[in-house]
Amino acid sequence: MSKYQYQSEIGQLLQLMAHSLYSNKEIFVRELISNASDAIDKFNYMHLTNEAFKKEEWSGEITVTLDKEDNSISIIDNGIGMSKDDLMENIGTIAKSGTKSFIENMSGDAKKDSNLIGQFGVGFYSVFMVAQSVDVITKKAGEEQAYKFSSDGSGEYEIKDVTKESHGTVIYVKLKDEEKEFVSPWRIKEIIKKYSNHIAYPIVLKYKEEEMQEEGKESKIVDKKEQANSAKALWTLQKSTLKKADYIEFYKSLSHGDDEPLTYLHSKAEGANEYTTLFYIPKKAPMDMYRADWQSGVKLYVKRVFITDESKELLPPYLRFVRGIIDSSDLPLNVSREILQENRILANIKQGATKKILQAIKKLKSEDMDNFVKEYNKVIKEGIYIDHINKELLLDIVRYKSSNEEGMVSLKDYISRGNSEKKEIYYLVADDEKIARRSPLLEAYKSAGIEVLIMDDGEIDEIVTPMIGQYKEWSLKDISAIEPPVTKDKEEQAKIEEDMKPLLEKIKGVLGDVVKEVKVSSRLTDSPACVLKDSSDPMANMAHMFKQMGQEVPDIPLILEINPEHEMLKKLVNIKDDALFEDIAWVLFDSAKIAEGLEIDEKSLFAKRVANIASKAL
Ligand code: ADP
Repeated sequence: MSKYQYQSEIGQLLQLMAHSLYSNKEIFVRELISNASDAIDKFNYMHLTNEAFKKEEWSGEITVTLDKEDNSISIIDNGIGMSKDDLMENIGTIAKSGTKSFIENMSGDAKKDSNLIGQFGVGFYSVFMVAQSVDVITKKAGEEQAYKFSSDGSGEYEIKDVTKESHGTVIYVKLKDEEKEFVSPWRIKEIIKKYSNHIAYPIVLKYKEEEMQEEGKESKIVDKKEQANSAKALWTLQKSTLKKADYIEFYKSLSHGDDEPLTYLHSKAEGANEYTTLFYIPKKAPMDMYRADWQSGVKLYVKRVFITDESKELLPPYLRFVRGIIDSSDLPLNVSREILQENRILANIKQGATKKILQAIKKLKSEDMDNFVKEYNKVIKEGIYIDHINKELLLDIVRYKSSNEEGMVSLKDYISRGNSEKKEIYYLVADDEKIARRSPLLEAYKSAGIEVLIMDDGEIDEIVTPMIGQYKEWSLKDISAIEPPVTKDKEEQAKIEEDMKPLLEKIKGVLGDVVKEVKVSSRLTDSPACVLKDSSDPMANMAHMFKQMGQEVPDIPLILEINPEHEMLKKLVNIKDDALFEDIAWVLFDSAKIAEGLEIDEKSLFAKRVANIASKAL
């Protein structure tokens, strides 16, 4: 027998399980049954594909035994089992970065936190919400030696050699004294129905019951045995026989949570390829959606045999929030998990499934769509960038903020209101919504009553939007790179420019090379000046490539545009005090940068100049 220390994070987790999470203890049953089912899935695959196991007479089954006297519950499977290394790796440590982020994500709200358990792959430990001690007796298929792992939920666990006839695992849970409800057959049946009804293998409940005899005779204890679930993989059933509640219940077992999905779609493709898909879109984006090590939420089956839940190739990466199942009738069972991505049949399934999912999203009702946009708008933008085949559909789905109204608008909304002769969609990219809404660049559009889309996902929009080019024959135009919508009469403009020329030159003289050009603007109404990136500079178009490669973006020269109608500039023309003129020119430029959300080079100098100007004004 050997004793081992748990990885320290597990110690912390066990503490939490035992003392803080208590509102939803019943889910330990769901988690242990789900692990048993996964283990059977894995053996099932070996049984069908591996010569060494083909001869064995076998069918997957989960047994749950209740022992009232002992106050214990055991979950038994005839699945793949675990070796000693497996035990130490899977149960003694947490393979995925799960525990840490689980602990970080704990909200303190016990109900929400217990919902997180399944999501983070820390399901096994939920048993310590109810257990005094746990034994895992297990034998790996194909190996001789069996092992018993024992833990009372403190910092250590034991592993010793034992004998066990067949492969598979027994999880023996000695319940705490106060957890008697979990030896009640009625209660356990209720829990299994609630969370595990559509686990594909039979769950057989075994317990003893006192049976009343005829008058005068003593009652007798009898062994009872009954199947507690329907044991039919939900996706294989006819759509017409299923109710919404069935789908939701299955989602809960699939997602290890208690939330309902935003929507689901179940479909069967016939023809060149035959396959069934059942997909769910969660109401809340998965915690790992923006982590490099995100986990796939889609399981691949071949003729109902589980193949893998680790392939990230089943759907395009931007749909990584989708949960569900793909079950193909055409793939060979022994399809190698490694070459899945090169498989033609799977590529077809992926294409078909992607389209279906996007169409379902597009059809979401307004309230659900708002929810979708809140959670997933950014990944849809990723999709626009990489998925050219479905660009149209993605552009129907994506939403943007607008200068016209609060909330999010679709491109379709925009063009229904826009100028249909010009067929142009105007947009402004910024890192921050507030700055964008106040940007001087919007002034001319506001006064002309032209709607501008406000794209405040910064870098993503900067990279993705220029790729869009067109939507339904309408061209997207970055307002910082084009002339404003209504310009003054040419002659009048020329006259203003002529009049302002000395001033422009004088300002340029002060600012020197930090500006490429100083010119008269026709896009401003309220602000004295604005800055624009020089869109003719080759770097302007390369900037997003640099960002994408994670490199510093070289400085793109700025153009300063001034508003000739503004009080300040009208007066500036007449200033004789050179020092004051210099201060004002710099403040004009720096303020315009600030208004665009750009950094200014020397903040303390800026403050000093403002103070100088104020002193002279007072
Ligand atoms: P998850 O199931 O989300 O990976 P768990 O903490 O529930 O997280 O389980 C950890 C790992 O322990 C599983 O991934 C699996 O490898 C192993 N395991 C748990 N229960 C069993 C079982 N009954 N049979 C075989 N392996 C198991």
